[in-house]
Amino acid sequence: MEYVLQTKELCKQYRHGRALDGLTMSVPKGSVYGLIGKNGAGKTTLIQILCGLQRPSAGSFTLYGAAAGPELARARRRMGAMVETPSLYPDRTAAGNLALQNRVLGLPDDGNIPGLLRLVGLENTGSKTVRGFSLGMRQRLGIALALCGSPDFLVLDEPTNGLDPQGIIEMRELILKLNREHQITVLISSHMLDELSRLATRYGFIDNGRMIREISAEEFARTGRRRIRLTLSDTRPLARVLDEMGLEYKILSPTQADVYGHPNVARLTRALDEASCKLQEIREKDETLESYFLALVGGDRRA
Ligand code: ATP
Repeated sequence: MEYVLQTKELCKQYRHGRALDGLTMSVPKGSVYGLIGKNGAGKTTLIQILCGLQRPSAGSFTLYGAAAGPELARARRRMGAMVETPSLYPDRTAAGNLALQNRVLGLPDDGNIPGLLRLVGLENTGSKTVRGFSLGMRQRLGIALALCGSPDFLVLDEPTNGLDPQGIIEMRELILKLNREHQITVLISSHMLDELSRLATRYGFIDNGRMIREISAEEFARTGRRRIRLTLSDTRPLARVLDEMGLEYKILSPTQADVYGHPNVARLTRALDEASCKLQEIREKDETLESYFLALVGGDRRA
């Protein structure tokens, strides 16, 4: 497999603590890589190191195989990033902001602006200044800015933060379009795990500056624990029945319980019937990214 980014034992030590503690990860070419971690796990520090805004205290990384010097500087030109809210000039139009970005990057004004505006769905904003843009429009303009140098690796830190449902859908469609139609590899950090699960082809779970697990979306779908939610007249006899069958379960309320794994449903129904426990509903549920994450790192949901 070809990798756009590989980090090896990356560390970042601040005076009062470690933001990264031996982080090793690999982002395959063509993937949408979802980086998942609680607040303070080290996601932003990692992204800042990749962008050259911070230096690692130890460890190394390669971008398109380049580790240092002019080669790394060249590889960085193939990367675009949007870290949290983009810095925009509010009194300029979308096109005006892009023209400035071209100038900052030393790019010729080669007529890329109308194409970029079309790509992010801002082609009809005309003379409207950014001051009047919705948050969703600003975020999409931020992505257009990150795309100015025609990168094929895009790094997005919390791109859906604060967006309304419509804005979230537009952002999702844009990221999918960039990945599928323009072959851009995307590294995206997000707290919105449900949203991330609609996009990502690979996940990296990071905790206390370390990579806890990397897993492809396919592998996650195949191996994620499945649950069956039972609604019953009374869960009291249920524990005995499930214990006898050797199943893993969780009683949720006096009338609901989750059973994990792949139980033999016909046998379970029969056993419940014999215990005079009336089954009212049975529903299959796949494990969510959130419950997988919580099982991995434990604690509160603060991803
Ligand atoms: P969030 O989701 O809240 O943005 P994160 O995963 O991006 O969190 P980081 O911002 O990378 O986490 O922070 C990792 C750890 O490093 C935190 O404990 C943070 O307080 C600390 N940290 C980050 N930047 C600095 C800094 N400049 N100086 C000192 N400590 C820092």
